[in-house]
Amino acid sequence: SRRVIFKDYVEGYPTEEHMELLPAAAVDEAAAAEDGSVLVKNLCLSCDPYMRPKMARPQEQWYTEAYVPGTTITGFGVAQVVRSSLPGLAAGDLVSGVTGWEDYSVIKPPFAGQLTKIRREEDGVPLSYYTGVLGMPGFTAYVGFHHICSPKAGEKVFVSAASGAVGQLVGQFARLMGCHVVGSAGSDDKVRLLKDKLGFHDAFNYKEEAADLSGALKKRFPDGIDVYFENVGGKMLEAVLANMKVHGRIAVCGLISQYNLAAGQKNAEELNARNLVYLVSKRIRMQGFVEPDHKHLYPEYRAWVLPHIKDGKVVYVEDVVEGLEAAPGALIGLFHGRNVGKQVVKLANP
Ligand code: NDP
Repeated sequence: SRRVIFKDYVEGYPTEEHMELLPAAAVDEAAAAEDGSVLVKNLCLSCDPYMRPKMARPQEQWYTEAYVPGTTITGFGVAQVVRSSLPGLAAGDLVSGVTGWEDYSVIKPPFAGQLTKIRREEDGVPLSYYTGVLGMPGFTAYVGFHHICSPKAGEKVFVSAASGAVGQLVGQFARLMGCHVVGSAGSDDKVRLLKDKLGFHDAFNYKEEAADLSGALKKRFPDGIDVYFENVGGKMLEAVLANMKVHGRIAVCGLISQYNLAAGQKNAEELNARNLVYLVSKRIRMQGFVEPDHKHLYPEYRAWVLPHIKDGKVVYVEDVVEGLEAAPGALIGLFHGRNVGKQVVKLANP
């Protein structure tokens, strides 16, 4: 049995040095599943951008607790119950929720109580989808687009990091609603994926058009953008602000271009401070959100999205690597755009 620990706080980009694969002590099964705890075998782990801010020193601001050096990394995953002291969960059940980056985890309260039992026969989707389209990123896309952006049919929508776990769904949800949707991504292959497989009306490679992002947007949105689903921040946000329509809306889901900047750099570049005057002149509503605040909407999302998955109107692109040893590299890859679609680490079959 093995585990991946968080070694030390990160400044700048995370590297393999910040994590370490170690042997894990054998689990005493009987002792492990006591007092509301559940012992699980991990099957599938999720790599998510929010894990980077959790690697910073705790005084830096983030909405969840920082990782503690020397402890096992935690994150979303899919697992199979080995032993449970929780009513409603029994050995053999498949669950999704917060687990550890290790072969076996003892999930204690309150996380044990937050595990969701997977209804696999009923859903008929791959298990990894519970870390993606049926998990946190999918729900984020739904809440952010349908509830924060207040979209209307026919509106012009722009999504950044559009081929990722969240962005690929925002684009598809926008198209299903009858919006015109354009995405940006960091490679020509991703741009093709957006147009050919994910149903975006148009897409561009923001790295190729870096010299004039505002011009790249103007070309695709000659009359302006009604809705921007913000995943990256920085120069993209600056360019978007200049291209928004009056009364446009921006849902700030994340600012991945900022997560690896050192504190000094953030101040020096002041990337997000430019062009904010457009918020006033164009009466733009710009709103940050985090998905845990909207948990009560999850059943609504699930009921809405499952039929769309079943009839092929919503597809989901995943990037799957195998084995716990591949997990640190996969997480690091998110910040260099190496993932094509939702980044998943497969550990075992049920
Ligand atoms: P992705 O699957 O999109 O992976 C991250 C992608 O971001 C990379 O593949 C890369 O794609 C892009 N990227 C990385 N660095 C930069 C950069 N410097 N500039 C521009 N793009 C960059 O991740 P998710 O879909 O899981 O997350 C997308 C965003 O949503 C993140 O900001 C995340 O923090 C946020 N989020 C927020 C939640 C909330 O509750 N508010 C919940 C979940 C996610 P490319 O090749 O296009 O550069």
